[in-house]
Amino acid sequence: MARRRPMMAANWKMNKLLGEAREYVEQLLPRIEGVEGADVALFVPLTALSEVVRLTEGTPVLAGAQNFYYKDSGAFTGEVSAPMLLDVGAGAVVVGHSERREIFGETDEMVARKAARAVSAGLLPVVCIGETKEERDSGGMWEKVSGQVRAVFEHLDDDISGEAIVFAYEPIWAIGTGDTATPEDAQDATGKVRGLLGELRGEDFAGAVRILYGGSVKPGNVEEIMAQEDVDGGLVGGASLEAESFAELVNAAANV
Ligand code: PEP
Repeated sequence: MARRRPMMAANWKMNKLLGEAREYVEQLLPRIEGVEGADVALFVPLTALSEVVRLTEGTPVLAGAQNFYYKDSGAFTGEVSAPMLLDVGAGAVVVGHSERREIFGETDEMVARKAARAVSAGLLPVVCIGETKEERDSGGMWEKVSGQVRAVFEHLDDDISGEAIVFAYEPIWAIGTGDTATPEDAQDATGKVRGLLGELRGEDFAGAVRILYGGSVKPGNVEEIMAQEDVDGGLVGGASLEAESFAELVNAAANV
């Protein structure tokens, strides 16, 4: 099966004021100039989104949000919709990050509705899935992760292509802890996810979906993680906050 185009995605989380966002993009662009072998996405705070869209216009960098709500408008104080993200030029959005699920109470059902709305709006959703340490230690990794994936497909239209959605396997115990999954664990989980996608939507679909790994990815471990057959890139928090280290990750992904 042909390898999918790698993607390296930065999740800035709740970091960077406008000036810092500008400085970052100015430092990043020359460092990834001419890189052709990978897609690059920056998931930035909403306050910086239009500015990052403006600064990355005409470059291969995709600017995106870290969350949205699946209704298009109305009495949903504090939320933004898919049309609003498109309106400021976003091309992608993170959906169901474990911090949204754990801190803000997002359920599998909400995540699934968001993923479906992103796809129907033409935004590329990066749907996060992953287990806690307790779930892993008690042998419940696959029950958790497969349940999260199955829930998404209860809301996604039948006729979408595999290129229209990205999954990010992010074991919660590896996020922001410095405790990366072994390359074998990353392959085990992403390979199982791809197998399930095949059961749910067929081999062509499964072969086209990109599955990223997230959880303490950094320049020192990116190559061995990217070398895994079913890992198509990274969703990166901490190591994406400095343009220099994120550029190293992008270059590593492009050279797989
Ligand atoms: C993330 O926020 O999705 C993430 C993987 O963070 P970190 O790289 O810091 O573990």
